[in-house]
This record gives sequence, structure tokens and C-alpha cells, in this order.
Amino acid sequence: MRTPNSACVVCSTPLYRRPADLVRARHVACMAHRGEAQRLSGVTEAQRAGLALGREKGTNHRSGYQHREESRAFTASIQRRFSVIRRIEAFSLETPPFHR
Ligand SMILES: [Zn+2]
Repeated sequence: MRTPNSACVVCSTPLYRRPADLVRARHVACMAHRGEAQRLSGVTEAQRAGLALGREKGTNHRSGYQHREESRAFTASIQRRFSVIRRIEAFSLETPPFHR
């Protein structure tokens, strides 16, 4: 048993939590009050954003987000360059090396 360094937010039972976990945690709760403590702490902005997308399968990816214009331009430039390379490769495949 470790020396307690925190307490349950509901019943004040002394609890040990790793210091790194205490930094991240929004609350400390014993196992019995875990659900109640989560209800009291509420939903964070990140959690709200995730919930806004919905819980259905396939709705947790990009459906709720918009691509930025700069990332659109970046992807387009790569695709343009790739298509040029593909055309050059296709041409060089048509003419076998010994005929050039
Ligand atoms: Zn408790």
C-alpha cells in the first residue's frame, strides 16, 4: 500500500495516484464513485467535438472536419507531380531499352 497523495472528490477517501497521472487527471475518485465523479466533471471540449460527430460506425473520421486550403494545395501538387512521373514511366515502358 502506497502513502495516499490525493483523495476521492466524492467521499474524500485517501488514495494514491501516480504523480504523472495527477497532472493529467481532472479529478481523483475511488472505484465506487468513478461514474459519479465523471458526471460531476462534465464533458471537455475535445470530448464534445468527438460526440458531435456521432456514435455511428463510420462517423468518427473526417466527416465533420473541413480540409484546410493549404493542405488541399499540398495534396494537389503531389498528385500533379505523381501523374507526370506516371506518364514518363508509361512512355519508357512502351519502348523497351534495347530499342532506344
Ligand atoms: Zn469515493
